[in-house]
Amino acid sequence: MNTKYFLYARKSTEDEERQVMSIEAQLAELAEFAKRENLNIGDVLIEKQSAKIPGRPIFNEMLDKIERGEADGILAWHADRLARNSVDGGRIIYLLDTGKLASLKFPTLWFENTPQGKFMLNIVFGQSKYYVDSLSENTKRGLRQKVRRGEYPSVAPTGYINDVRTKTVVQDRKKSKILKQAFELYAKGNATLGDVSDFLAQRGILSRGGKRIHKGKKAKNEPKVFCGLFSCGECGKMITAEVQKGHTYYRCTKKGKTKCTQPYIREEELDKQLSALIQKVSLPQDWAMELVQMAEEDGKEAAQSCTAFVQEAQEKTKSINVQIQRLMDVYLEQDIEREEYRDRKAKFMSEKKTLEEKIITLEQEQNDWLEPFRKWINTAQNAPKIARDEALFPKKALAKEIFGSNLQLAEKVACVGAPESSKNPENSPQNQWAALRAALQSVGKIPKSQILVPTAGFEPAAHRL
Ligand SMILES: [Zn+2]
Repeated sequence: MNTKYFLYARKSTEDEERQVMSIEAQLAELAEFAKRENLNIGDVLIEKQSAKIPGRPIFNEMLDKIERGEADGILAWHADRLARNSVDGGRIIYLLDTGKLASLKFPTLWFENTPQGKFMLNIVFGQSKYYVDSLSENTKRGLRQKVRRGEYPSVAPTGYINDVRTKTVVQDRKKSKILKQAFELYAKGNATLGDVSDFLAQRGILSRGGKRIHKGKKAKNEPKVFCGLFSCGECGKMITAEVQKGHTYYRCTKKGKTKCTQPYIREEELDKQLSALIQKVSLPQDWAMELVQMAEEDGKEAAQSCTAFVQEAQEKTKSINVQIQRLMDVYLEQDIEREEYRDRKAKFMSEKKTLEEKIITLEQEQNDWLEPFRKWINTAQNAPKIARDEALFPKKALAKEIFGSNLQLAEKVACVGAPESSKNPENSPQNQWAALRAALQSVGKIPKSQILVPTAGFEPAAHRL
């Protein structure tokens, strides 16, 4: 009886088999072999899947056909094209045992359907499986070693790239800058994760699939706007949020046996109270005008004294230059020794340098404070507007600036005050906002004329010249 063969070629796209012949090459070699050996070829079957695990569709179909008697031989480039796992290898050998498969032909391998031949085939299948297993073990070992060295053992995250040459993960110089900005944007508290996603998309940073980088499916876990702003008035723990029936509620984070007894408060109510607190710290119009005027006068005065100092320093520098010149003359006349000349010159040079540095710092300081002070006056005047506005993120950012970490929530009432445990004047922020609050509290207690002058304690930190 003339054996009918299936011609089976397989190439997987996986790395491990990169060195294996292409399908075209396999087909050409096998056709030539079949002609030379005078083999009767039925179907030509091509598979593009790894043989590491059972379940290759074309391979399974081929064996089913052989079981039904449609052919009784297989021609393949090598036994490892047929099986690299114990199930498929076992099935081939069982078909040989039961006589359904009469012959296997490989150009690279001798096989005869005898007890010795089957024994050899078993060894070849075992070898293929061993190759796959040890490759996977070697890869895992390599990854573990990377982890031990503190290296990232996977595909580089956004902002990094896999350096194929050194097999390490390195920074992507262009993208990492943008990502850093994105983190800073979010950290400021004015942006939602959606905003960050827009920010990245606008700058061409997309996921590996070319899509927008999402905030992830766990939208429930996105921090709510007022998280991290209040502490609990009862136990001092931070106030967190949770969503219930479509509303955001804020509550103490304390859990467990000694549960805090504080009730929940709805976001809308907390927003109202926070707005009220901010409005209390707004800078009155007349104060603002008076302060700007005072600052400008101070600025002028400072500029004048600065100019005077700079002139004086320039005169001094000139005279030092003259002295250096004279010293040089004396030295050239050989009236003093080289060492003495060097010492005295070094002294003059250092004096000159000190003067120059003083001029630079003074000019910088002069430019340093007036602008931020104006900006602050502007923000303080705008506080009521931000408080009335619906946007919650700017409100949070402003509240953080004004109150620092001194906001508390107790019995559904938001208030300002450091927790009992840290009632220490050093813990409350010593900035212009604290000064403004103190000043506003003294309205009606002391004459207005004394509130805005330094002796009343209202002296913004930037206002120091
Ligand atoms: Zn609490």
